[in-house]
Amino acid sequence: MLISRLANSLPGPRIIHTRQTADLLPKMRNLEFYALECMSELDAIKIKYSPNISFVINTRAKARLGLCKKIGNSYVIEISKILLDEHIDVKHGLKNTIIHELLHTCRGCMKHTGKWAELAAKVNAAYGYNIKRATNSSDGIIPPRLQAQPKYIILCTGCQTEITRIRRSPLVDNPQNYRCAKCGGKLERIK
Ligand SMILES: [Zn+2]
Ligand SMILES: [Zn+2]
Repeated sequence: MLISRLANSLPGPRIIHTRQTADLLPKMRNLEFYALECMSELDAIKIKYSPNISFVINTRAKARLGLCKKIGNSYVIEISKILLDEHIDVKHGLKNTIIHELLHTCRGCMKHTGKWAELAAKVNAAYGYNIKRATNSSDGIIPPRLQAQPKYIILCTGCQTEITRIRRSPLVDNPQNYRCAKCGGKLERIK
């Protein structure tokens, strides 16, 4: 599960496949290939990411495209399977997210401020990426067809603003306990 920056002399990253992944793979891009490509791009501009990273394909997350978790001295980077779909732009979808998460493994970079933001700006300038704080499906990277459809819609009876939710929450269950943030109007669930 270890990935070294010396990718040529050592076995490549091992991808941990989550349940359901095996049957999806033939249609999907190879995460390992793109992860190594991103790493060599960072190597070329002397950005030092952690030598201990495992990559995991997340088959469930739809709103979140990437995630980086620190476990002891190593890191786990989760990449949503949505980004491995051939219809997604490689550079601004998949690789953008991989690099966003790789930068979190640099020293002092778990937050999106300070050092992380500096490194993101450096990568953007060097390669024309658009790496920024949030990696979510509202960036326009994901064609609407592949985006998670809201399961619940709450309507403000005052200003008609619609609030969409993918998961259940106290707001979804009891909209009458809340008020519209824009106009203070009453909320009603319409889906
Ligand atoms: Zn981040
Ligand atoms: Zn309102």
